[in-house]
Amino acid sequence: MRIDVITIFPDYLNPLREALLGKAIERERISVGVHDLRDWTHDVHRAVDDSPYGGGPGMVMKPDVWGEALDEVCAPQEATPRLVVPTPAGRPFDQKTAVRWSNDPWLVFACGRYEGIDQRVIDDAATRMPVEEVSIGDYVLVGGEVAALTMIEAVVRLLPGVLGNPLSAEQDSFSDGLLEGPCYTRPEVWRDRPVPDVLRSGNHAAIARWRRDQALERTFHRRPELLAALPEGDLDKADRKQ
Ligand code: SAM
Repeated sequence: MRIDVITIFPDYLNPLREALLGKAIERERISVGVHDLRDWTHDVHRAVDDSPYGGGPGMVMKPDVWGEALDEVCAPQEATPRLVVPTPAGRPFDQKTAVRWSNDPWLVFACGRYEGIDQRVIDDAATRMPVEEVSIGDYVLVGGEVAALTMIEAVVRLLPGVLGNPLSAEQDSFSDGLLEGPCYTRPEVWRDRPVPDVLRSGNHAAIARWRRDQALERTFHRRPELLAALPEGDLDKADRKQ
């Protein structure tokens, strides 16, 4: 997969080279390009923003600079990229979105700052490529870089060969519509707190049942709306006793 990020703060994306993402680059599972938006400015101040039409506080990112940047970065190759525009006013990003994007050959992230990017940039890009305006949560960050990092990490860990054990992704929260239950490691007793007996029983069926029950309980208490959204067939008889 190819991933490009356009930003006025390229260093913000340095964590892309660390840990799991860094390894994915080394193993050539992904190739990453981070581009400084100011490279497409033509004035001495390298301005990327201007005051908003209609008045109001803050500044808006200029369409001419973004337009040239996207023309170059998204220039047609064998594949067409999906353009991702992080914005608090976007559709919520979730695990389903991550899974869907993990099948794409190419993602381009356009990181806004200030009040955001002139809407015409997004509307114009949408005539040439799929474009999604997405939010990582109901709060407002100062820029799209952290949102892009969040989404890239969620997508890249789903690519084959990236996680040490591919089963991890299959059993994580949201994969079956539920939150994952608690997990434990050695020692068996820590500060007078023992690991639940069932996990040391060696009884795989009992362990699977316990994990499922914990996931149901945790989801019920923390995210009841997820439980309510489960298709009827996803709950077995033993689940319904919970
Ligand atoms: N005026 C915008 C609004 O109220 O919807 C907020 C702009 S915000 C201060 C600046 C940039 O941060 C946005 O263009 C976007 O790139 C990023 N951003 C902020 N919060 C975000 C969120 N929850 N999800 C994704 N991106 C976000």
